[in-house]
This record gives sequence, C-alpha cells and structure tokens, in this order.
Amino acid sequence: MNYRNIWMRVLIVILLLCVFPIAAQARSGPKEKQIIVVFRFDDYSSRSSTDMEVKLIAAFQKHNISCTFGVIPYVHVGDSHDASPQDVVPLTPTKANILNNAIKTGTLEVALHGYSHQTNHKRGGYTEFSGLAYDSQLERITKGKNLLEEMLDTQITIFIPP
Ligand SMILES: [Zn+2]
Repeated sequence: MNYRNIWMRVLIVILLLCVFPIAAQARSGPKEKQIIVVFRFDDYSSRSSTDMEVKLIAAFQKHNISCTFGVIPYVHVGDSHDASPQDVVPLTPTKANILNNAIKTGTLEVALHGYSHQTNHKRGGYTEFSGLAYDSQLERITKGKNLLEEMLDTQITIFIPP
C-alpha cells in the first residue's frame, strides 16, 4: 500500500465522518452552529507504514486534536482479499510503544479493528466476521482485545469491524 492510497483513505474517512454532523446540523435551527468532526484512521498494524503513522500522530499532536486509531492486533501476512489460510503477525512492541506515547498525551484513542483484517469469504463483498460462527467471532475479538490491552495502557471499548 502506498502513501497516496493511505492518505486517500484518511481523507475519505474524514469526509464520511463529517457528512453526518453537517447533515444533522442542517436539520437543527440556525442558533445551533456547533459542528463536531471525528477523525479516524484504520489499519494500524505491525505491517502498516510506521513512518507515515508517526507523521500523522505528530500532526494531530501539533494541532492538539485527537484521533481514533483502528488497530489490527494480529495482521495477516498476505492479500486481505484472499480467504485461504495465512500466517498472522502480532502487534510489535515498537508499534505498541508509538501508540502508548500518543495515548499518554491524549492524542489517540485506540479501537480494535478486527483480528487479522483478512476476509473469510467473498459473498457480495469482503468481510472478516460476517458469516463466521458466533463462537469463532467471539474468540477472535477476545484474543485481539486481550493482546491490545496487554500491550497498551488503555482499555479497549471500541470495535471497528473491518
Ligand atoms: Zn481496515
């Protein structure tokens, strides 16, 4: 994945998150002018671009803005659209340390973004969890949440389905 794709995804998520508050504002009266913008960045993992992510976190810190990072705890090693078995790589201590430093400053809120971010099938779209048995979903979410809570100085209370 190159920088252009990553920045396009960041921009798309920001734009999508802006649409709802603006639409909600349009329905309210002219006296209520507050617009709430939520920033979210997905796919932080042991395989994602650390250089770009460090710069992104620094930009949020510089402007005293917080962001929710969707973190993949055990990222798959191959193509995320390939449902065949793949090895996974747990979040590394280096990547966890970057998150912990940003959590301490209030810059980041961490959410669980799936388990491995690998599709389990292709039926009208790619998905990691849809179609899996409940116990399998629970096992993956529990294992991912446990890893993040062991490595990060925060409780994981948000789930972002991949
Ligand atoms: Zn994702």
